[in-house]
This record gives sequence, structure tokens and C-alpha cells, in this order.
Amino acid sequence: MYCRNCGKEISDEAMICVHCGVPAGKGNTYCSNCGGEVHPEAVICVNCGVSLKKKLPTEGIQKRNIAVAIILTIITCGIYGIYWFVKLTNEMNRLTGNEQDTSGGVACLLTIVTCGIYSIYWAYRMGEKRDRLAEKDSSSAILYLVLSLFISIAVYALAQDAINKAIENN
Ligand SMILES: [Zn+2]
Ligand SMILES: [Zn+2]
Repeated sequence: MYCRNCGKEISDEAMICVHCGVPAGKGNTYCSNCGGEVHPEAVICVNCGVSLKKKLPTEGIQKRNIAVAIILTIITCGIYGIYWFVKLTNEMNRLTGNEQDTSGGVACLLTIVTCGIYSIYWAYRMGEKRDRLAEKDSSSAILYLVLSLFISIAVYALAQDAINKAIENN
């Protein structure tokens, strides 16, 4: 492949370009496939026709049917939900280049230790990453935060309802 920053040929396994020092794949002035000069905003290389859109590190990450995941979570009394939470966190970290971020396992532990408070922050971070992944500047972070608060409140409401009914029937 060719360095996207300086256009010189580099090894396919190279992490960093040995000619200019820029991480492999970074830069937008040369095509990684043919080494030809391209417009920084170009989506396709006009020299060789290859897509210039940055490839996401999707190896090992599978699409998941949301409806099936929700049903599985319900059937397994939440056990699948924990697995889903862990995988989702790790996959989102990887796709957004935040692999040093709190891993799914740690996030899960933190949620348990903080009695769920951490999950509100988790939801916020997840929203931020979702925006980065979708390459848009909407406010999913706030939406996710509100949603997680809303769901927590729904849990409180349900618990309160059960307490109220127990008092009534006493
Ligand atoms: Zn270079
Ligand atoms: Zn090209």
C-alpha cells in the first residue's frame, strides 16, 4: 500500500509510514491503493477507482439483530443483556478507535459496584461514540443519557407500584 499522507510505498503491515512518520492510513492527499495524488475531499480515487473512505476495523464484529437481542435478554432474565453490554462496549470502543477506553467487562463491574450509576455515564459515552461512528454532530450523548435516566425512572416507577400494591393488599 501507499502512505495516504506522503504517497510513498509502505508495507501492508506497516503501522506507521517510514517516510513521513504519520500512522498508516492517516492523511488524505494520496491514494493508499495506487499512490496517486487525490483531492482531500475525494471519496473515490480518480486514478484507480478505489474507495478512499476509511475502513473500519470490523473483523470479528458481527451484526446483531436488535429484536432478537432484546428477546434473548428477556428470555435469559438479563443474562444475555450483560453479554450484549460487554460486547457492545468493546465493539464500539474498537470501531471508534477508543480501545484504551473502559472495556465492557470493567464497565459491567463498575455498573454493579455503583449500583447502576455508572451505566448513566456509560449511556452518555455510548451516545458520544455513536455520533462519532455515524460521523454526525447530533446530540445522541444527551439522548442516551436522558434515555438511561428515563429507563431508571421506569424501574423506580415499577418498583414503587409494587410497593404501593403490597401496602394496599396488606
Ligand atoms: Zn508517509
Ligand atoms: Zn488510486
